[in-house]
Amino acid sequence: MSTAVVVGGGPNGLAAAALLAREGVQVTVLEAADEIGGGTRTAEAIVPGMLHDHCSAIHPMAVGSAFLKSLGLGQHGLEWRWPEIDCVHPLDGGDAGVLHRSVAETAAGLGADGARWRGLFAGPAAAYDELAEDIMGPLVRVPHHPLRLARFGVPTVLPATVLARAFAGEPARALFGGVAAHAFRPLHRPMSSAIGLGILTAGHRYGWPVAAGGSRAITDALAAVLVDLGGKIETGIRVQAASELPATDVTIFDLAPGAVVDILGDRLSPRITRAYRRFRHGPGAFKVDFAVEDGVPWTAVPARRAGTVHLGGAFAEIAATERDVNAGRMPERPFVLVAQQYLADPQRSVGNVHPLWAYAHVPHGYTGDATEAIIAQIERFAPGFRDRIVGTAARTTAGFAAYNANYVGGDIMTGAKTIPQLVFGPRATLDPYSVGVPGTYICSAATPPGPGAHGMCGANAAASALRHLRR
Ligand SMILES: Cc1cc2nc3c(=O)[nH]c(=O)nc-3n(C[C@H](O)[C@H](O)[C@H](O)COP(=O)(O)OP(=O)(O)OC[C@H]3O[C@@H](n4cnc5c(N)ncnc54)[C@H](O)[C@@H]3O)c2cc1C
Repeated sequence: MSTAVVVGGGPNGLAAAALLAREGVQVTVLEAADEIGGGTRTAEAIVPGMLHDHCSAIHPMAVGSAFLKSLGLGQHGLEWRWPEIDCVHPLDGGDAGVLHRSVAETAAGLGADGARWRGLFAGPAAAYDELAEDIMGPLVRVPHHPLRLARFGVPTVLPATVLARAFAGEPARALFGGVAAHAFRPLHRPMSSAIGLGILTAGHRYGWPVAAGGSRAITDALAAVLVDLGGKIETGIRVQAASELPATDVTIFDLAPGAVVDILGDRLSPRITRAYRRFRHGPGAFKVDFAVEDGVPWTAVPARRAGTVHLGGAFAEIAATERDVNAGRMPERPFVLVAQQYLADPQRSVGNVHPLWAYAHVPHGYTGDATEAIIAQIERFAPGFRDRIVGTAARTTAGFAAYNANYVGGDIMTGAKTIPQLVFGPRATLDPYSVGVPGTYICSAATPPGPGAHGMCGANAAASALRHLRR
């Protein structure tokens, strides 16, 4: 029987382990923290019984992940819950861009821009499952559906600032800009539309659900599948050197490229060491979890029913804040993402006190406290919010790096989404999962298709490993 070790028990590490185990490989996952899950964990933080997602919260990419679907996670307790409205982008003055799962319903709310929104998303969303076969893996390979990919791909190469000009009204422009900003890239750069278009297309196909009981339910279900298949999980083991690894046929690292170099040392070729050392990390995140009495009094009424709320005002303002954080400057009013998971999953609340998840885009390694800036952004679109705060728990960029070594400088994307890193991952090669040492792979969100709790980086890396084992 072939053997494998997976270092890091995030969703990609667990997905890689599950695929290997399903194919008859004896797998062990080694996780540094006391609890597996990486960016997909949930715990109490402020009020006993109230559940906060530490990292991932909203899951258009996970619910649509072909690999996660193939594991039957529902039989292991994973249940998706959809909010009434996927995402709202409020504007000063009370207007808002409103994103529904249905393209038609979204378009209907965007006035004159509705036809353009429909033109951009109706076709790709209807064909998302086919499209995902090409975009949820390495981009440099022979596509399964070349025409469909080409049609989807043309707008993805555009800077978000250019694509936004297709919309005449601020609600559509800002709605698109807020989702494009998920990439943590300056929005005037080529391909800064790509991640936003991917998330919007997946969302129009599958919605933006939360996991019942918290995102840790994704971790728990993946772990249950793995254990059922005979896999083992060991926690509290931080691998720091190759000598600490058991002798196995396959080793897969669910780690940032720099950590792979630290562990493998001179087992890596100088060329790959250089590429991994040059790998760039992006801006950071500063997160505040809140306990809020009676929820957030949003001025834009649809935001009171939305799972996600993007706070950054007009498109131009978001573009300016993203340019600032990429240049190492903290904006006075940073872009803030808010999630209200409890609206779809009320078990997370305690009576009328609800958990609110929020993080701001901040410069890489930012050492300041962004709590007040986040509260001010929420207050801007929901006057009276401050008076409803029962408690807070903040995580700085350093706190993120300590929580999970993959989040270097608070970079929760595990790598800047520059064009080369978006297209190739950590180095320019046809197999971005191979680290150039036979039987050794990297599967973290630094690899294609990038961040998200979809497990596809792990599944793709494990597929490479299986090809190696069958050679
Ligand atoms: C604040 C925040 C919000 C997010 N929001 C969303 C969202 O709403 N939706 C979404 O889909 N995604 C979201 N993400 C992104 C998502 O969580 C990540 O992209 C995803 O978790 C990446 O999975 P991974 O398996 O590659 O790595 P990770 O989840 O980072 O897991 C890596 C694991 O490796 C372990 N590890 C690190 N070093 C070592 C070592 N030396 N030895 C052993 N173990 C080690 C870590 O402890 C960790 O458990 C968010 C992330 C953050 C932080």
